[in-house]
Amino acid sequence: MSPDLYARLMMGAGGGDPFDRHLFACAVALALSEPDVPLTTGLGLSSESLAALVGRFFSHAPALLVGLTRTGREGEPLAPEEPDLRALLLEHRSRGRLEEEWLAHIVARRSLGTNHLWQDLGLTGRADLSGLMRRHFLGLAELNHSDMKWKKFFYRELCQREGVVVCKSPNCEICTDAAVCFGAEEGAPLLSQTRHCSTSAPILQDKIM
Ligand code: SF4
Repeated sequence: MSPDLYARLMMGAGGGDPFDRHLFACAVALALSEPDVPLTTGLGLSSESLAALVGRFFSHAPALLVGLTRTGREGEPLAPEEPDLRALLLEHRSRGRLEEEWLAHIVARRSLGTNHLWQDLGLTGRADLSGLMRRHFLGLAELNHSDMKWKKFFYRELCQREGVVVCKSPNCEICTDAAVCFGAEEGAPLLSQTRHCSTSAPILQDKIM
């Protein structure tokens, strides 16, 4: 993966844990590649939270915040399940850090995308997402001991809480949906395909560093 925005975000003198920094840089770089979508909307964060995130991890890149003005819709979910998924994640946070609040918002928002979740988070591979879950939401990572696809796992958990049965079988081993629920979630990282997608990205690249 070598998109310029990701590289520039990682090269600066920002702080925070290096793996967390990588996670946030991936999500920020991919969200910035989406034309006409404010970064707050792309990440599901308030402008205050985004400012705090940039201050902690990418203090060399304040341009990320330029042009962001609070709108009446800021903070509103884009789908009914988004707040529930955010709450599920926060219920299982591992460290009680602010980073986990930001990640819960980002994961819940990006889970509304149409690709594998690791792709829509801009990550390098599925292993990054498993690492994110183990580091910050260990309880959920342990619940998903059979390594179900993360989106499937999240929505099955939410449905079970509502008493909704989504499984076709009481047992995964004999279920005809096993291939849908489990599998390698293969694909190319979306970040490697975004170099020329955004009109704003080149301008930001000039401003960052
Ligand atoms: S494989 Fe079948 S039983 Fe297992 S989680 Fe998927 S739908 Fe449910």
